[in-house]
Amino acid sequence: MSVPLSFRHIRCPFQQPGYFTSVVVILGDSITLIDAGLTSSPREAIFPFLAECHRSPEEIENVILTHAHGDHFEGIPSILEHANASIYVHELETHRVIDLATRCNFDSSRIQSITHGDILSLSERQLEIFHCPGHSAGSVCVIDHESQVYVTGDSIQGRGIDRPLLFYSSIAYVNSLDRLSRRPISGAIVGHPFPPRMQPLLDGAAVQELLKVSFDAVNTLKNRMEQVLTNAKRPLSLDDLGRLMPDVRPPSIPTILTELVTHGKIRQLGHDPECLWFAN
Ligand SMILES: [Zn+2]
Repeated sequence: MSVPLSFRHIRCPFQQPGYFTSVVVILGDSITLIDAGLTSSPREAIFPFLAECHRSPEEIENVILTHAHGDHFEGIPSILEHANASIYVHELETHRVIDLATRCNFDSSRIQSITHGDILSLSERQLEIFHCPGHSAGSVCVIDHESQVYVTGDSIQGRGIDRPLLFYSSIAYVNSLDRLSRRPISGAIVGHPFPPRMQPLLDGAAVQELLKVSFDAVNTLKNRMEQVLTNAKRPLSLDDLGRLMPDVRPPSIPTILTELVTHGKIRQLGHDPECLWFAN
C-alpha cells in the first residue's frame, strides 16, 4: 500500500491501554482531518502531532467525519477553539453534529452535509465519499482517489470479543462489506485496532482478510443468537438475550434480531418495548 505522503495517521488514546481511535491528518497547503477523536484527543494527540510537524491548529480548514459517534467527533469543539474549520458529515448524521454544536456552543453553519458519491477537493487531494451504513446509519469511507486508500472509520470491524458493534443494521453492514469487497482497495486506515491485525494501516491483502473476518463475525453472531433462541424453553426478551450473551454489545442485539426475523429464522411477539422473540 502506498499511503499518500501528505496522509498521517494519529493514534488518539481511548479506554484501555493500547486501544485508540484513528485520526488522519492531511497536510497540504491547508490541513484536513478525517475524524476528530474524543474530547481529549486534540490536546493529547492532534495538536502535539501538528507541533512536531511545525504546523498549527489554526491551519485546520476541514474535518470530515467517518461517522458521528463520540470517539470520532467529540474533539470538534476543541479544534474549533483554534480553527475556523468546516465540518463534513453524512446527511443522516448531520443532526448529531448540530446537537454537539448546541451543547458546546459552536456555530452550526460550519456543518456541511455530504452524501454517497460526493467528491471533496481539499488540501490538494480528491476525496470521495462512499456510504457504508451498518455500524451507524451515516457511516462513510473516505477514499483518496489517486491512491485508492480508504479511511474506513468503523465500517469494517473484523471480529473480537465484542465485535461487530452494530447500532444501525446488520443487514446494511453486510451489504456494505459486500460492496467494499468488490472495490479495488489498495489499502485502508481503519478506525481502531481491529483483530486480526490490530494495526490501523492495512495493505490490500490485509483489507480483504479484514472484510472476510468481518463477514464471518456477523454470521457467527447470527448463528449463536438463533441457537440461544432455539434452546430457550420460552420466548426471550432483549434483557434475557443480554443476560444469555453477556459478551455481545447491547446495541448489536436488536439489529441481529431484526435480520433473523427478516430472513424468517425467528419470530417476534408483541411490539416495542415489550417484544419477545422465539425460534421457528
Ligand atoms: Zn462508531
